[in-house]
Amino acid sequence: MYFAEQSNLLVNLKSGVLKMLPVCLKCSSKLSMSWFLCSLVGTKTRCVNCGALHKFTNWHKLTSSLCALIVVFGMQFFESCIPWTLVLFFSLCLLCIVISINIPGQYKLESQDKLKIK
Ligand SMILES: [Zn+2]
Repeated sequence: MYFAEQSNLLVNLKSGVLKMLPVCLKCSSKLSMSWFLCSLVGTKTRCVNCGALHKFTNWHKLTSSLCALIVVFGMQFFESCIPWTLVLFFSLCLLCIVISINIPGQYKLESQDKLKIK
């Protein structure tokens, strides 16, 4: 019984996280997660389904620098009470990833798409 409830929660959590993933603004298929999290602000990504080109907005610059700040200050703040630096670092990163995925409007369609798909 308890296990069933737990796995239910896990499924809910998973579908919730999946809903937050970056999606194509044209056809709503999923965009690359690694692009969203790891690429530089100038990097653009193309939707594998419809070919629409997406780029980051300035808002993404702000949120990603905010997240970096959270990790840096969080490390200094919690270092005295949590001795596992690596664990602390990864949980802070995870927190930042969850926060940053949840903030909308971080990317938009590139209007000057030179490689127009007909
Ligand atoms: Zn698309």
